[in-house]
Amino acid sequence: LSTRASAILSSLDIPVGAELPGVYDGQWSGSGEVLESVCPATGEVLARVRSATPDELHEALGKSKEAYLHLRTVPAPKRGELLRQIREALSAKRDVLGALVTLEMGKIKTEGIGEVQEFVDICDYAVGLSRMMNGRVVASERPGHTILEVPNPIGVVGVLTAFNFPVAVYGWNFALSVAAGNANVWKPSPSTPLCSIAVTKIIAGVLEKNGLPGAVSTLITGGKNVGEAIVESRDIPLVSFTGSEAVGRVVGKAVQSRFGKSILELGGNNASIIMPDADMQLAVPAVFFGAIGTAGQRCTSTRRLYLHRAIAPKFLDALQKLYATINVGDPLVDGTLLGPLHTRAAVGIYSDAVQRLRQSGAEILTGGKTYDHAALSQGNFVQPTISIPKTADPADKIWSTETFAPILNVGLFDELEQAIEWNNAVPQGLSSSLWTRDIRNLGKWIGPEGSDAGIVNVNVGTSGAEIGAAFGGNKSTGWGRESGGDAWKQYVRWSACTVNFSDAAPLAQGVDFST
Ligand code: NAD
Repeated sequence: LSTRASAILSSLDIPVGAELPGVYDGQWSGSGEVLESVCPATGEVLARVRSATPDELHEALGKSKEAYLHLRTVPAPKRGELLRQIREALSAKRDVLGALVTLEMGKIKTEGIGEVQEFVDICDYAVGLSRMMNGRVVASERPGHTILEVPNPIGVVGVLTAFNFPVAVYGWNFALSVAAGNANVWKPSPSTPLCSIAVTKIIAGVLEKNGLPGAVSTLITGGKNVGEAIVESRDIPLVSFTGSEAVGRVVGKAVQSRFGKSILELGGNNASIIMPDADMQLAVPAVFFGAIGTAGQRCTSTRRLYLHRAIAPKFLDALQKLYATINVGDPLVDGTLLGPLHTRAAVGIYSDAVQRLRQSGAEILTGGKTYDHAALSQGNFVQPTISIPKTADPADKIWSTETFAPILNVGLFDELEQAIEWNNAVPQGLSSSLWTRDIRNLGKWIGPEGSDAGIVNVNVGTSGAEIGAAFGGNKSTGWGRESGGDAWKQYVRWSACTVNFSDAAPLAQGVDFST
């Protein structure tokens, strides 16, 4: 293993060179299928991880249930104290864990560190939440009665995550879920097992110090089979799934068919709309980051750019100038802005999409190829691409599908209404962004005739949400909400409790059933 990869793994107490156990439920095990962790920038195999056999999976689910039975008796503010300690432990390892995200997922260093910071932030949030998960007292129509709405822990929560946020997405779920009193079973992407092992080790250390069962944060690495087993398990009342629309559709139906609850965080196909009065100094760099950040592999990446015809040439000129300055290369090196795609297969998907654009008569303004210089040849590097498709018809596949790569399609409009219609016409509804200084445009955009996405920004790009607001998208993005806002309310079971403290037992609505 390269010296730098060894150094990162060692700093996170991950043995170098050995086959690693990929299951944790208080004990580490794993004798199932082998997962390979491959560095997307260099092609280096970082580790081999043994995922769960069906027996190991079954055992881990059993331990998780026991852990839940214990955790639900721990008072919520005490669970908050646990989260505070986990926050501290993560924060102490923030930079090296961020470096592991970069090494294994491929995003640049500052984004890798930022992702760990999100986990730290949501722990802070959940510490406060642990003293604020309030129910309600409701007025009763009957004398001497009171009605309470009471939140209680829900059970074991299954968290299935995507490759592109191998740390933060578990954090968003785990922090709220633990504050709510649940045990968690995490199945990460099979291509980012090291990030999940490193996070689990940090959490496990804190659980152990507090005398709590390790299976409060169970890890079960594996592929589709393991995912299916979790989704189908009746011991898991809530499944939080982050991933593609295609898999989300299967997962949503499977959970629903056993009357479980699901939170779905699926694909995005996000647009930025630039009005003629937009501040170009701000809008151009924001679109640049939105389209190229994480090499176009964020669910919130800007994939569609709608430019008002009056400013389109000027805007595209400025944007292309920025594209020309992009520093591509090793994502662990300071100053790199464009790292690799996560897998070889993703390079194929990028090339197919570009080919489709060319065949349909799109104008490729920049990019459209892989890099051919030697320094990048071992990694999955592709040129960020701006194209003007021949048609602006949002029903065309070019516009209506999420291609998880740095390809930005541009359409020109004359009226804001037209741009909003295009914004809303795709199946997905995650993030959206309008650039304007006219308050009338803003009002339209955030109102009933405006964007139908879950994230509706003004003079802020599509990417880069904070943890305080509920995060998620509508329509085929799945309607799920995670992180801040009221998201915590999904991780509890609600009971309506009517209590009679009078000497009579009247029925509601004046119903008379006397004999
Ligand atoms: P993916 O759908 O291929 O995989 C997601 C997870 O599902 C993985 O852990 C995978 O092993 C598991 N899985 C696969 N088949 C399964 C099955 N039949 N049953 C249960 N689990 C199964 O997604 P990906 O390629 O890892 O991630 C990229 C996608 O995730 C993009 O579409 C992106 O937009 C989306 N995403 C969405 C959000 C959001 O918050 N909306 C955030 C991050 C990523």
